[in-house]
Amino acid sequence: MSKKLTKRADDYSRWYNELVVKADLAENSAVRGCMVIKPYGFAIWEKMQAELDRMFKETGHQNAYFPLFVPKSLFEAEEKNAEGFAKECAVVTHYRLQNDPEKEGKLRVDPEAKLEEELVVRPTSEAIIWNTYKGWIQSYRDLPLLINQWANVVRWEMRTRLFLRTAEFLWQEGHTAHATKNEAIAEAKQMQEVYAEFAENFMAMPVIKGVKSDSERFAGAEDTYTIEALMQDGKALQAGTSHFLGQNFAEAFDVKFTSKEGKQEHVWATSWGVSTRLIGGLIMTHSDDNGLVLPPKLAPIQVVIVPIYKGEEQLEAISEKVNKIVNDLRKKGISVKFDSRDTYRPGAKFAEYELKGVPIRIAIGNRDLENGTLEIARRDTFEKQTINQSDVVATIESLLNEIQENLFKKAINFRKENTTVVNDFKEFKKAIKKGGFISAHWDGTEETEDRIKEYTKATIRCIPNDVVEEAGVCVLTGKPSSKRVLFAKAY
Ligand code: AMP
Repeated sequence: MSKKLTKRADDYSRWYNELVVKADLAENSAVRGCMVIKPYGFAIWEKMQAELDRMFKETGHQNAYFPLFVPKSLFEAEEKNAEGFAKECAVVTHYRLQNDPEKEGKLRVDPEAKLEEELVVRPTSEAIIWNTYKGWIQSYRDLPLLINQWANVVRWEMRTRLFLRTAEFLWQEGHTAHATKNEAIAEAKQMQEVYAEFAENFMAMPVIKGVKSDSERFAGAEDTYTIEALMQDGKALQAGTSHFLGQNFAEAFDVKFTSKEGKQEHVWATSWGVSTRLIGGLIMTHSDDNGLVLPPKLAPIQVVIVPIYKGEEQLEAISEKVNKIVNDLRKKGISVKFDSRDTYRPGAKFAEYELKGVPIRIAIGNRDLENGTLEIARRDTFEKQTINQSDVVATIESLLNEIQENLFKKAINFRKENTTVVNDFKEFKKAIKKGGFISAHWDGTEETEDRIKEYTKATIRCIPNDVVEEAGVCVLTGKPSSKRVLFAKAY
């Protein structure tokens, strides 16, 4: 076995990187900033995808697919969006390689094969999609248009972290078109709700729903609705965003429809996305010094069964019993793995599944066969109990629910303990040192926001949806403020 994980308290960031690699989720690749997602990590992503996809379809969306490349002329059409993403764009300029006449066995770009128009590798797909929508939308009868795509995008990020921030990442991007402003706003808010529900009910990761300040808003959006989660080290993570895009893209791509009244009007738009960053959030919300802790609803393996035996005969007898248990659990839709490998000892297997965050471990030995019992161990609390084999299905079912709830409760409590209400800048600075969310009055200007960021590295995560109007003064400038906003240092 490889040596132990770094402890979170010693070096959180190192703990995270080690855990991602040791739990077999992902690793760095030959391409700077791009990761290889390994089968166990990808299995978590597939579970997330399946659930989100179901939720998108339930709210009336359909999947489609658009090209990876965006002609530069289309990319630059919506100026704010183009300007916002320009610095992070990978651009294709040529379409052919040839043998290098000066270096044997090497290839070079064929200077003759220059593209007439350069192609931007999509950092987000509004441009190519709205250019397409022009041909799809003529009348109010064509609206709303509710499309999602599962895709990869490329943003040439300078400082990358596995899952949290990579140069290429997997995501889904919803792009919708509506006849009215109100409908588009309702859609953007609805998708924020969908994201929050997914984060809380499936990831067991509590989130604050809110709206971004001007400077944190998506380039080209009128409003960005966000869900913000708090990681164990006291830093916030923007876990998902949903944008109300106004008529900006419809104007840039001249997408108009004939209204019921026969008038020509520009279409209203939204876009929304979550990415493989969610896996980073999942890890940083629940895991501990022993490894991953996965909520049952997203765990690729929910129950692992490890036989404790001496000799083939015992293994055979145990296997017979276990195969029946496996079948019974699978019938209930529970994913079970029976690890009967004889190349590893039980202790090594226990350590492996602990590291990989399997929610429940069952151990069954010769004596259990005689007694009709088995031992169950929870990953989240390390509690063990011995139960009758006849109770296994009911016990596992209720335990999986209990673990899911316990993880959410623990995370909620952590957030409560790490949210500080402050009233002046001295308190603010003290709270920032401690970490966590800070609820403070702000005068509403970008300048103040920038200065606070400069002094403390904290940014406005959001103006919470459920904020209450309350007269106060800005923590930095003392100017009047009508509501508190949420600050934090963020990933
Ligand atoms: P955006 O289109 O910028 O609103 O991004 C949508 C979502 O993708 C964000 O809310 C992030 O959670 C996620 N995201 C943005 N940049 C990255 C990145 N470099 N790596 C992974 N996820 C990202």
